Amino acid sequence: MKEMQFSEIKESFYFTCSQCGNCCTGYQKVFLDPYDLFKMARYLRFSHTRSLFEQDFVTLVQGQHRSWVPQIKFRERPFRFCPFLQNFTDEKDQLRGRCSLHGAYKPFICSLAPLGREIDFVRGQDRFLFVKPDPECPGPESSEEHRIKDIKESYSTELLYQSRFFRMLHDLDVLNYSSRKYMELLYIFPVDRSIESIYEKIEKSVENVINL
Ligand code: SF4
Ligand code: SF4
Repeated sequence: MKEMQFSEIKESFYFTCSQCGNCCTGYQKVFLDPYDLFKMARYLRFSHTRSLFEQDFVTLVQGQHRSWVPQIKFRERPFRFCPFLQNFTDEKDQLRGRCSLHGAYKPFICSLAPLGREIDFVRGQDRFLFVKPDPECPGPESSEEHRIKDIKESYSTELLYQSRFFRMLHDLDVLNYSSRKYMELLYIFPVDRSIESIYEKIEKSVENVINL
């Protein structure tokens, strides 16, 4: 194995996903940002992110400190699994898991795996940590190298929207708002406009409540 769990990655790491599906089942937690909600609603052809909550694809859970964040609501039967996980059989007749959101609609936290991102606004730190997706994940045994520089280039848009989201959570933390207020401020919006205009509107609303 070439990496330690939760070690900071500055240059590169080794990993290959064999699509075993383990990290899309069980007690995994898939947290979402507003850009993920936007993409998911569009994938499901919903006109509004409210439908994601009403139709049980997403739920709101307590995040770090006093924040509330959206999380994919896993199905419970016949076992816990992500509602976007699809099964298929590979060329060796083995059952594998494929993400139906893969590509343009996939939640950023899933696209970034096995990297996790940690931003500390107080210390001015923005770093990547290696987070093994599942205890049995064979990914780190790989000799396939991934460079942080390339990941930053590939996901520049997602990284930017994620950091803007984290910034809003950081700023809102002092207000100790209810889950309902977080929902109204950050997570409920129509998706018939650009994600940039949605973010600008959310940021304006957050700025207004911070300055009250
Ligand atoms: S546990 Fe590892 S190999 Fe299996 S799907 Fe997740 S990332 Fe891929
Ligand atoms: S969204 Fe896709 S990659 Fe993420 S947990 Fe669900 S099936 Fe797996």
